Amino acid sequence: VKDYLVNIKANAHLNAFNEVFEEEALQNAELIDQKLKQETAGRLAGMVIALKDNICYQGHEVTASSKILEGFKSIYSSTIVERLLNEDAIIIGRTNCDEFAMGASNESSYFGIVKNHADNTCVPGGSSGGAAVAVQADMCHAAIGTDTGGSIRQPAAFCGLVGLKPTYGRVSRYGLIAYGSSFDQAGPLTRSVEDAALLLEVMAGADDYDSTASQKQVDAYGTKLQKSSGKKKIAYLREALTSNGVDEDVKAVLKQHIEKLQADGHTVTPVEFDYLDYIVPTYYILTMAEASSNLARFDGVHYGYRSKNATDLVSTYKLSRSEGFGKEVKRRIMLGTFVLSAGYYDAYYAKAQKVRRLIKERTESILKDFDFILSPTTPEPAFKIGHISDDPLKSYMADIFTVQASLAGVPAISLPVGNNSKGLPLGLQLLANQFNEQELLNFSKYFV
Ligand code: GLN
Repeated sequence: VKDYLVNIKANAHLNAFNEVFEEEALQNAELIDQKLKQETAGRLAGMVIALKDNICYQGHEVTASSKILEGFKSIYSSTIVERLLNEDAIIIGRTNCDEFAMGASNESSYFGIVKNHADNTCVPGGSSGGAAVAVQADMCHAAIGTDTGGSIRQPAAFCGLVGLKPTYGRVSRYGLIAYGSSFDQAGPLTRSVEDAALLLEVMAGADDYDSTASQKQVDAYGTKLQKSSGKKKIAYLREALTSNGVDEDVKAVLKQHIEKLQADGHTVTPVEFDYLDYIVPTYYILTMAEASSNLARFDGVHYGYRSKNATDLVSTYKLSRSEGFGKEVKRRIMLGTFVLSAGYYDAYYAKAQKVRRLIKERTESILKDFDFILSPTTPEPAFKIGHISDDPLKSYMADIFTVQASLAGVPAISLPVGNNSKGLPLGLQLLANQFNEQELLNFSKYFV
């Protein structure tokens, strides 16, 4: 803990943390040290973890990097935090993120941008940008992020880490600040596949507080982790190697891995994915609709920011929300409300739900014939700060490879596969069948 605290201070300019729990982490380290001596310590004893600031931890502030929640303290802990603490993890702080997890560059945070440790002029990705940089710059051992459409995987790719989005329902959402409830999943950002497997093993499983958390038995992902043996069948999207929208270094690293896999006797086949043009619009229509509904609770009355200029109920709602939310969040609330409104519901929201089903079915049908789908995690490596911040469409297109797994609800992992000539990390992504995290993790060992 002391070492990490030194690194946190030395890297304050990266702005990865919204708050560091310095005293508490030191005290907990002492307690766990005792437990280790008495041989009563849990499976995560001594693992120093940072939490994305949209995960509730009792008695601690949680803001989702929004002004509207500044100063708000959780009155309960999320299920995942309970499970991490039960195994004696040490939580060192809460990390910066895009406001309400909406973004792909960490530039929409009320608490300022986060810088990529590999190149301070570049973004760390988002929305779990602070979580990624906290691990990248050795300010903690691992971090827990949330992923609605890529928010764990994309920053992991931009920062050279392993980032795992579990199957929808594998991990309880109880105590996560909701963005898109039918998409959100928490997961680990780590340096190794081993750590990702162990953290998933601890966090996953049924939960009385979340009926969408699956009852399916949790595998001992960590203990059973071993590099896959046998030959695998892998599909990849042809467009990933041919599209002009994909960076040349990204194409090259994908091609190199395809050739290596083939040389090692695996079957690697290009597949058509007819709905590629629809995945980003479908994702955004549905998540904005869900977000507009989820964010209705921030009304200046229940909790969080209340405008000082309010004079009655309606002005409390209007002014508190107008002053409390940032630009991107407002944009999404308005678009989400629009696609849910009478007269447009069928044309947009209901249509998008139908397209989601087609995307899910097509993804599942590919995964019937193949063990995994391989793609880049992102079309390009970390981009410059300011590059997409004034153009939401650019930001949304950055999610082209990550949102498919989110729409389909299948697990996906981003794996670090080296750097480009400028020293920026590159990531490849693997998708697997629902609840096939064990195989996904085992095969990940092939790459890292
Ligand atoms: N970039 C995507 C979005 O802005 C993903 C965010 C996330 O996964 N939380 O919605």
